[in-house]
Amino acid sequence: MPDLEGYLKIWGAAQSGAVAASRLFEQMSPRARERAEELCPGLAGVLVGAFPYYAGEREGNLSLYSRGEDYHIAVKRLLAEAGAALRREYPRSRFVPLVDASPLPEVRAAELAGIGLVGEHGLIICPPYGSYVFLGCILTDLPLETPGRKSPPCIRCGRCAEACPSGALRWRDGAAVFDSALCLSGVSQRKGALTPEEERRLKTLPTVWGCDLCQNACPYNASPAVTAIDALAGRTETAPYLADLQREALEGLPEKAFREKYRNRAFSWHGKSPLIRNLGLHKEWEHKA
Ligand code: SF4
Ligand code: SF4
Repeated sequence: MPDLEGYLKIWGAAQSGAVAASRLFEQMSPRARERAEELCPGLAGVLVGAFPYYAGEREGNLSLYSRGEDYHIAVKRLLAEAGAALRREYPRSRFVPLVDASPLPEVRAAELAGIGLVGEHGLIICPPYGSYVFLGCILTDLPLETPGRKSPPCIRCGRCAEACPSGALRWRDGAAVFDSALCLSGVSQRKGALTPEEERRLKTLPTVWGCDLCQNACPYNASPAVTAIDALAGRTETAPYLADLQREALEGLPEKAFREKYRNRAFSWHGKSPLIRNLGLHKEWEHKA
């Protein structure tokens, strides 16, 4: 089988691999499998790439993943370019890029493809980039083999669960248990009113969008390599690096102008109201405003 995964590296993936679709079908619901096969009739293989995003500093009130161009846009573009190059090389085959809203169990696909190890926090870890990576896949009707190699598990130190302020990640019997309903990353991005308990927990976060605490505590993320992908690092004119949002800057901005100004940012997809609310919840930021 040709080195198809190499195409993902040409287009920015730090690690890439391949997996037979049949290995993923076992873990997919009938609906998810149906959707994957609708997207790519004859689906037989999946290429997986890890696209790092760490830009070199952690200070700031935006989650590290959201400081450059929105990854939905940036990674989709890289995958589209890789897919187009593959189609030129293999014109009889299908190559369908996917990012984020994917029916695939992406972390499992990455693990099977041998591109990283799965942390107890449920994320893929790709040394030397740690878990600060986005996963992107290309579906194909070309049969691909799953490599025999298997990554070891993480060292199971429990620091991610210790660092979690909401109980979303708990350590039980030597392993982490995750409750997505309690995860403050999701809560911070939700529109509308929050419960008093959710508000209290959000006040403990250093971020007003997303939460990095479990990832920042992980020893694999102690000294992560900086991404070479300019768009994700914020090294472009259209989405320059942005680590902080201030309430005063957002309050005077009409919603339409906000969406226009930040149209290519991951933190803008729910409008400015969750950000204004979260900034208001955090006393330190209120003082600054
Ligand atoms: S992102 Fe934050 S709230 Fe969610 S599991 Fe990690 S530390 Fe807990
Ligand atoms: S903090 Fe420890 S237990 Fe959690 S993912 Fe990292 S290595 Fe694994």
